[in-house]
Amino acid sequence: MTRIAIVGVAGRMGRTLVAAVEQDAEATLAGGVVEPGSSLAGADIGELAGLGKCGVAAAASLDAIVDDFDVLIDFTAPQVTLANLAFCAAHGKRIVIGTTGLSDEQLAELDGYRDQLAMVFAPNMSVGVNLTLKLLETAAKALGDEGYDIEVIEAHHRHKVDSPSGTALKMGEVVADSLGRTLKEHGVFERVGQCGPRDAKEIGFATVRAGDIVGEHTVMFATEGERIEITHKASSRMTFARGAVRAARWLAEQDNGRYGMQDVLGL
Ligand code: NAD
Repeated sequence: MTRIAIVGVAGRMGRTLVAAVEQDAEATLAGGVVEPGSSLAGADIGELAGLGKCGVAAAASLDAIVDDFDVLIDFTAPQVTLANLAFCAAHGKRIVIGTTGLSDEQLAELDGYRDQLAMVFAPNMSVGVNLTLKLLETAAKALGDEGYDIEVIEAHHRHKVDSPSGTALKMGEVVADSLGRTLKEHGVFERVGQCGPRDAKEIGFATVRAGDIVGEHTVMFATEGERIEITHKASSRMTFARGAVRAARWLAEQDNGRYGMQDVLGL
């Protein structure tokens, strides 16, 4: 049984994660943490998730539950995640990180912990998206240098704070890596006004933010005469939450290191 704690337990993903752990026969809900100062501290986390009482009270800090859990699941915000990473490294815990929107400096800081603890860090925990990444690698190798323009289009709900999504960036990176390109050099994140014709090696990104869209990603390979689109649509946050719980169970058996969902799923 893997003892899992969830940080940001009152958030959109936090509440879904409570349900996902409750449904998993090999994981147990060992704790939940709310934002410091939150009036929800002390509330039953099952009730926060709309599931009814589960007997676990929301804690105001990780310190309060340090002896109760083995793996922390963190879907919060970059600064919060980095602080939790330091906490887990200092206390011999493992961590599954779903937070997106980390800057290059923050990613380097995260990577600095790879020898100090076992972590899974993935911008998208859904099994379907991680399979899609494999399909993209194949498509990019076959098409990318043969005159096909590559564009990544994503859509999310109106509350999302980072753009493009971590998943869109990951898809772009997979395509770029397969073709010996980099997003730093070839990524195009904005087209406004007289921006001229498209360069053949560009990897373009377009973003939609609207309503309650859970997460949709399309990578388009387009040339004269045909267009191939590889699309993933998430219709429920449960797909990410189940992936995160699966990652936590897998991580409980691993040595120190930084892992991705491809490792968890053996892809
Ligand atoms: P949200 O705003 O609903 O939830 C974030 C929660 O973190 C909030 O409840 C907030 O109170 C809490 N929080 C902030 N600071 C805290 C602190 N110091 N201690 C404890 N809790 C704290 O956001 P969300 O939609 O749940 O998304 C959270 C993150 O997860 C985002 O970065 C999002 O992009 C990412 N995400 C990743 C995946 C994936 O599969 N990897 C899927 C969905 C969302």
